[in-house]
Amino acid sequence: MATIIEPTIFELSSPGRRGVKMPASDVPEMALPPKEFLRSELPLPELAEVDVVRHYMSLSKMNYSVDSGFYPLGSCTMKYNPKINEDTCRLPGFLFTHPLQPIETVQGNLALMFEMQEWLKEISGFAGVTLQPAAGAHGEFTGVLMMAAYHKLRGDTKRTKMLIPDAAHGTNPASVGMLGMQVVTIPSDARGNVDLRALESACDDTVAGMMLTNPNTLGMFDENIEKVVALVKDCGALMYGDGANLNALLGIVRPGDLGFDVMHFNLHKTFSVPHGGGGPGSGPVGVSQRLVDFLPSPLVGILEESEGDMAPLYGFVTPKNTIGRMKAFHGHFGGGLVRSYTYIAMHGPDGLKDISQYAVLNANYLQARLRDTYKIPFDRICMHEFVMEGKFEGSDVRALDISKRLMDFNFHPPTNYFPLIVSEALMIEPTETENKDTLDRFADALIKIAEEAKTQPDLLHNAPITTKFGRMDEVKAARELVLCCWLPENYEQMA
Ligand SMILES: *Cc1c(COP(=O)(O)O)cnc(C)c1O
Repeated sequence: MATIIEPTIFELSSPGRRGVKMPASDVPEMALPPKEFLRSELPLPELAEVDVVRHYMSLSKMNYSVDSGFYPLGSCTMKYNPKINEDTCRLPGFLFTHPLQPIETVQGNLALMFEMQEWLKEISGFAGVTLQPAAGAHGEFTGVLMMAAYHKLRGDTKRTKMLIPDAAHGTNPASVGMLGMQVVTIPSDARGNVDLRALESACDDTVAGMMLTNPNTLGMFDENIEKVVALVKDCGALMYGDGANLNALLGIVRPGDLGFDVMHFNLHKTFSVPHGGGGPGSGPVGVSQRLVDFLPSPLVGILEESEGDMAPLYGFVTPKNTIGRMKAFHGHFGGGLVRSYTYIAMHGPDGLKDISQYAVLNANYLQARLRDTYKIPFDRICMHEFVMEGKFEGSDVRALDISKRLMDFNFHPPTNYFPLIVSEALMIEPTETENKDTLDRFADALIKIAEEAKTQPDLLHNAPITTKFGRMDEVKAARELVLCCWLPENYEQMA
C-alpha cells in the first residue's frame, strides 16, 4: 500500500506568506539584549491562517481518540470524558489563578482541593489524601517513599524488599527500583489470585511491603484478598494498593476498609481526565491513619473554622513527618483536579456506584460473547476488564495481527502483550460509557477476524490496510527513535 506522507508545516512554508498582522506597537521601544544572547536567524514557517488550519485539521483526522470511536485499551480506562468537565476547568476563576497568589484570593480553588481530598478519602476509605503527584507512577513513588519513611522512623531498617505479583503493571517494580529497594516477584495461582503459599514463604522481617493491584491486570478480584492483607501485616509490612483502575470498585469496595495502607488513584483513568496524549495526569495518593503524618507537604487544610455565615479559611498545612514536596506547586489543578471534581459532583455516590456496575457488566458481556472464539485463560467473572489469548491452534496469526486488523474495523486495538503471564495477551477494557450496540459490533469484528485467521491469514499479517499508514516497523521505531520530525538545514550550526 502506498503511504502518503503528510508534508510538515515547514515544507508547506513559502517566503512572505502571512497568517497574522501585528498591530503597531503601543509600548516604548527598548534596547535589545547584548548580541551574544540573540539568534541571528529564527527559521519559522511562513503560512496563511487557512494553511495552518488545514494542516492541523488533516493531522487530527489521522488520529484515533475516544471521541472518534471505541477504545478498549485494557488497564488504561479510556472512558468517554464528559464535555462539561471542559467547561468547568476553563472557568476564568480557575483558569487564570496563579499558584503563588495569596491564599485569601484563591479560597474557591482551595475549597475545591480540600473537598476533593475529602471525597477521595470517602471513596477509598483512607484517612488522608495528597493531590500532588502528577501521574500514577509518580503516585506510586510517593507512596513507596512514605512506606520507607515509616519503617525508617521506627528504626526498622532491615526492611528493603517489596513483594510484587507477576501480574503487576510495569510501573510498580520501576517505582520500587527508583528507591533502591529489592523487588520480590510473587506468582499468581491458577485462578489468577496471589499464590498464598508463595506469599507466605516470602513474608519476613526484611519485607517493607507489598504492592498489589486489585482487581489485578487480569481483571480478577483476588478471592483471598483478606488473607493476603493479613499475611503481609502479620510480618510487619505495609500494604500498597495500585488504584489506577478503580473503575470496578467505586461505591462497592473501599481499599482502606480492606486494610490497605496506601494507594494511588489515577484521576486520568477512573475520574475522566483525558489522557494518552490528551491531557495532564493526576495521581493523588490516599493513606491509612498510620501514614498520615508522612504525607507530602503541603496539604490543603482549614486554618480557621467557619463561624456563623462565614466560610472557613482554607490554606496549606504541613504533616508532622512529611516526606516533603513531590511536585512544584499543588498538583495538576485545572486540567486534573477541576475536571475530576466535576465528574464526581455530576455523578454523586449512587452515580459512582453505577459506573462500576456498568463497567463490570460491559466487560463480562464482551467476555461472554468472545469465550467460544478466543481462549480466556483465567475464565471466571471478571471485573472491569479481561484478558484473552490472541492466537489459534495451527495458525501463525498473533495478537499483534488481530490488534492491527481491528483498526480496519475502525476500533482502537486492545492492550496487547500485557499482562506478561498470558501468552499473546489481548487485554480488553470496554468501560461503562459504551452501549450494547458498540460492544456487539466489536465482538462481531473479533469473531470475523478469528474466521479470517483461518481463511486468509495474510490479510491479518498485512493489516491495517484501510488506515493512512500501514503496518509500522515497531522494532525500528523503538531502536531508531526520532523524536523530532523536522530539523532546519543549518541545525548543526545553530546548536
Ligand atoms: C496506568 C497504570 C499505572 C501508571 O499510571 P500512569 O499515570 O501512566 O503513570 C499504574 N498501574 C496500573 C495498574 C495502571 O493501569
